[in-house]
Amino acid sequence: YRAKALGGGQHCLFNDELAADHQRKIDIEKALTEAVQRGEFVLAYQPQLSLVTGELVGTEALLRWNHPRDGLCLPGSFIPVAESTGLISEIGDWVIGEISATLGNWHRDGFDRRVAFNVSPRQLDRVDFFSRLRHALADNGVPLSMVELEFTETAAMRASEAVVVEIAALRADGVRISIDDFGTGYSNLSRLRTLPLDRVKLDPSLIADIEQSERARVIVQAVIQLIKGVDCEIVAEAVETSAQADILRAMGCHTIQGFVFAEPMFEDEYLGWTRDAGSSRIVA
Ligand code: C2E
Ligand code: MG
Ligand code: MG
Ligand code: MG
Repeated sequence: YRAKALGGGQHCLFNDELAADHQRKIDIEKALTEAVQRGEFVLAYQPQLSLVTGELVGTEALLRWNHPRDGLCLPGSFIPVAESTGLISEIGDWVIGEISATLGNWHRDGFDRRVAFNVSPRQLDRVDFFSRLRHALADNGVPLSMVELEFTETAAMRASEAVVVEIAALRADGVRISIDDFGTGYSNLSRLRTLPLDRVKLDPSLIADIEQSERARVIVQAVIQLIKGVDCEIVAEAVETSAQADILRAMGCHTIQGFVFAEPMFEDEYLGWTRDAGSSRIVA
């Protein structure tokens, strides 16, 4: 099917309001369990652009549920239920399997693009998460340099010492490590200094009104200075206008991800997009 992989405005029966309802939650849980078994999930890929060089410097894999009746559903409509019921573990396993197979294929085709995927805090509760991840990647012949993990700010701050050790080991083996949604949780700044970390992704709420609001600009500038101070790359998410991109560039933000230059795309379209973008302009 050729439905768009996006972005905004998709109709989906499982909207947040309905999901709050208890019966709806039970229905979604049942449908999600079947979705795992029936293989109704698909990944969409969204490129990230360097504000410095104009090159493609990363890609994030984003989950979509191709619901048999309601069509394409965005994660906001089902991830919260999956998190609260624990089904996120099975869904997360599917994501790892799919990413491993896809990156293995790309690698064999000589297309060594690095892709990030989202790891739910619940997935880290399972002690074997890291060994299963390593096995899935190795079984598919994926170089660890093609992999990036995104942990939410809260998950990163709460991670146990054992989890931090595993993350540091992956990073030492070439995996890129990112903190997602930075600026929405609580950050322990001494923790930020010691975590094994390559990139920090600014939450969309931080940058939404930087065109209109001087206070928003002051805050974003301060956060950018802070992150640069600990030698991390800054990725601004949900950048929708070229004016936002210009402000972020002037503030020293390294990288953007947003509809202003590319929406999430299914694999075929993504591969076509990177070809059109020109392989000489693509570095990671
Ligand atoms: P996230 O990891 O922060 O992903 C970025 C979200 O911003 C994506 O929403 C993306 O489509 C959206 N986005 C990108 N550019 C723009 C823009 O210019 N404007 C706007 N308005 N939005 C933009 P999406 O795909 O709906 O995913 C929402 C969240 O669901 C993700 O936020 C992530 O927390 C979660 N998620 C997605 N895939 C997975 C997954 O495989 N596993 C887990 N555990 N969570 C996932
Ligand atoms: Mg993310
Ligand atoms: Mg984010
Ligand atoms: Mg998010």
